[in-house]
Amino acid sequence: GTLANQIAAGEVIERPASILKELLENSLDAGATRIRIQLEGGGMDLLSVEDDGIGIPPEDLSLALERHATSKVATWEDLQAIHTMGFRGEALPAIASVSRLELLSRARGQNQAARLQVTGGVATPAEVAARAPGTTVRVADLFFNVPARRKFLRGPGAELSRNQKVLRQIALAHFPVTFQLVQNGRTLTQFPAATDADDRAARVAAVLGEGFLANALHIEQEDRGYALHGWLGLPTYNRARGDEQYFFVNGRPIRDAVIGHALRAAYADVLFQDRHPLYVLYLTLPPERVDVNVHPAKAEVRFRDGRELHDFLFHTLRRVIAGQGGVHPQV
Ligand code: ADP
Ligand code: MG
Repeated sequence: GTLANQIAAGEVIERPASILKELLENSLDAGATRIRIQLEGGGMDLLSVEDDGIGIPPEDLSLALERHATSKVATWEDLQAIHTMGFRGEALPAIASVSRLELLSRARGQNQAARLQVTGGVATPAEVAARAPGTTVRVADLFFNVPARRKFLRGPGAELSRNQKVLRQIALAHFPVTFQLVQNGRTLTQFPAATDADDRAARVAAVLGEGFLANALHIEQEDRGYALHGWLGLPTYNRARGDEQYFFVNGRPIRDAVIGHALRAAYADVLFQDRHPLYVLYLTLPPERVDVNVHPAKAEVRFRDGRELHDFLFHTLRRVIAGQGGVHPQV
């Protein structure tokens, strides 16, 4: 019921940015190639995500808002490959229990769309609507029925910047997807689909600042099944920006003690002492070398051989930082 959904909402839905993350992941799971985000009041008044993914057939629309209803089967291989995290089938009902949510979708192969509205967990029957194939989720008046939680939000500017941070992280993990962010009718961000190395570098520059690539070391290293590629910011540039660090393991953003230590050690050894370096790094390794800890909200993993990974990261980064190889200066 609504209460159980609100309790679940307390665990997953802290603020607009947590909703944005869930909605973007749903769109990506649905195979979207274009995703448009619209915000009003930093997402507190309105947060909508529009995609061109597979859509939801009309008869499944209300099901999508039921707790533990998920169309996604998590196979062992999925988990091993760090495919999907988070609550299964809890996000939409949780969001719907603390907002006014509208779900509008047209499944590929159908010639009509359907729309459903939910206010504080209470749904209207689905009605026929018009839309190109894909899904739109509109979340209005977040926490209108939970004023105590609304008070914890920081204001439109702060919430907007948290939403932008979520988008930056997702955009760096999904180069082929086009993203647009519109706030109060104004386009703030436009990431065109990046299909080749130049496009990808352009997206990295758009995310980390236009001066980043010229002030970064490029890394492209492979050893014993591990591959690391990406960019390591130089201290000259780092000082000009806040610290932003992106580390992806098999395409997923990960914070991990082994990785953190290897990075700090590699930086501290040479010229980056006491700085919070900027970096965008992608680690790929065989899925069987990493275990997923399926904690609902956190992106946690356990590496089968932490020491081997630590050595690979440390030595690769140190070589690059010391300028002894693996460096391809970017223009
Ligand atoms: P989960 O993602 O864990 O399955 P959610 O509550 O986030 O749970 O979504 C419930 C279901 O609604 C999904 O399993 C999917 O079938 C459907 N759904 C949600 N968003 C979309 C979308 N953008 N495109 C297609 N289907 C969606
Ligand atoms: Mg989901």
